[in-house]
Amino acid sequence: MSRYTGPSCKKCRKLDCKLFLKGTKCYTNCVIDKLAAVKVRGAKAGGKMRRAKVSEYGIRLQEKQKARLQSGMSEIPFRNMFDAAAKAEGQTGENFLRKLETRLDNVVRRLGFAVSLKAARQIVLHGYVTVNGKAVNVPSYQLRIGDKVSLDKALAENVQVKQGLTEAEKRNQRPSFLEYDAEKMTGKLLRWPDRAEMSYPVNEQLIVEYYSK
Ligand code: ZN
Repeated sequence: MSRYTGPSCKKCRKLDCKLFLKGTKCYTNCVIDKLAAVKVRGAKAGGKMRRAKVSEYGIRLQEKQKARLQSGMSEIPFRNMFDAAAKAEGQTGENFLRKLETRLDNVVRRLGFAVSLKAARQIVLHGYVTVNGKAVNVPSYQLRIGDKVSLDKALAENVQVKQGLTEAEKRNQRPSFLEYDAEKMTGKLLRWPDRAEMSYPVNEQLIVEYYSK
């Protein structure tokens, strides 16, 4: 018997990108892989995949949507975050991705406390996460260098948390800008992530162009 996998990678299909909205599903059963297989077969058979032409604007919009959907933010806070990134010193695109990367929910995910950003948000919302010893139930909370993120020990035996930790070990996913202490179930933001360490699979330049129109 196979588990119902349903159309949960619908948005992956729409934006032609694995969004990892459903935990590990994009690793194992994403519509993107299926489409790629179809494309290969089509190419072997000498056929051509037809795809509607997307305008320049459409391409930029799609890129923005990819990042926004993945972050789970609605447009206004997302835009506000972009504006703040534009005002800060340095490159706007990279500033923006750094902000996304070092949000509390994303760090919870990257430490392996959750399999997806959505699951990470739930854990934060329900008050299982502390920053420097204080409960913070705001998923969008921006971490600063030196901040210590801890997971409530009550979740140590939680099936989903265990799955997240196993996956993180297996895929060797923990980035080196985070220091992880398995014993204490704590992670520390050691420094700002480099561009190559950021996990949003987007071309930030297109997002900058989208908002600069
Ligand atoms: Zn997917």
